[in-house]
Amino acid sequence: MKITEITMTKAEFAFNKPFEIAFAVLYGFQTMVLRIDTDEGISGYGEAGPLEYVTGDNLDTCMVIADEFRKKLIGTDPTAIQNIHTVMDSMYHGHTAVKAAFDIACYDIAAKKMGVPLYKYLGGSDPHLESDVTIGISTPEAMAEDCLEWKNKGFSILKIKLGHDIVSDSARMKAIRKTVGDDVILRVDANQGWSLKETLQIEPLLKELNIELIEQPLRDFDFEGMKEIKMRSTLPIIADESCHLPADALRLASMRACDGMNIKLMKCGGIEPALRINAIAEAADMFCMLGCMGESVIANTAAMHVAAARRNISKIDLDITFFSHCDWITGGFVSEGGKITLSDEPGIGIQVNGF
Ligand SMILES: [Mg+2]
Repeated sequence: MKITEITMTKAEFAFNKPFEIAFAVLYGFQTMVLRIDTDEGISGYGEAGPLEYVTGDNLDTCMVIADEFRKKLIGTDPTAIQNIHTVMDSMYHGHTAVKAAFDIACYDIAAKKMGVPLYKYLGGSDPHLESDVTIGISTPEAMAEDCLEWKNKGFSILKIKLGHDIVSDSARMKAIRKTVGDDVILRVDANQGWSLKETLQIEPLLKELNIELIEQPLRDFDFEGMKEIKMRSTLPIIADESCHLPADALRLASMRACDGMNIKLMKCGGIEPALRINAIAEAADMFCMLGCMGESVIANTAAMHVAAARRNISKIDLDITFFSHCDWITGGFVSEGGKITLSDEPGIGIQVNGF
């Protein structure tokens, strides 16, 4: 099989309402949607969801780099995924969101060629998974109300964005637990917003409120601090911004600096490196979460297939499509509350109309 053409387009998606995290307020997102055509009549879709302060690239750099990859990859075999990555990595360091777009489209093609949904192509058997939904930072009252609304929509796992200061963050968590009751799983993500001292100060309260885990309390580079928190905390600590590439996963694993890792296709460069991160984590007896960034059904569904195919990926944070909608990209999965069932269509199982 040979790639005959690669086409990219910019796409824009708006959030239903503004979304605040520790270091930004987000109103919507833009992505690059990509289609790879082959000489066997099979086409695959991929997507790059760049976020400058996380991946270092933006939509314009994505389009430029994608065009460079396009020139080198036309004529090659899209199912030879290792070769696709070798070509991309030999051209540019980083640019993981663009690499993810090509990687996802190639996996879509490979699974379609086999006539199976991607999770089966990756070795999985169960199309069901349950995602949390993320609650942005606001006042304790507004967040508690937001949490109750999602609980009433059928979500039983909520990921709470924190990281402002521990006094107000403590008030937030007390209000939320009181409002949603004890039958909801609550996990928190500080998005690098706390110091080591603050994390150790707030941890006993989080433990008392039966919080499931703490995500990325410290700055991304502070592996030593993460290790110290991991040793002194009774709650599981997971790395997100500290864990981009398989090499980061290896460093976190060898330092025993966390209990789990949050994999995102846009941070690591796609499904193939995501599988390597998970393998490193699993060998170190660390669990993985599969998370997302600003991306549509394409990349989000691809991530769901990866999560469904790997037993060590036990936490799912693939909620972006619950906040935004899109009528020209459809399919992929159905959901009831946070409970997701993947489509049994070959590949990722999405339909893209007009592109
Ligand atoms: Mg995070």
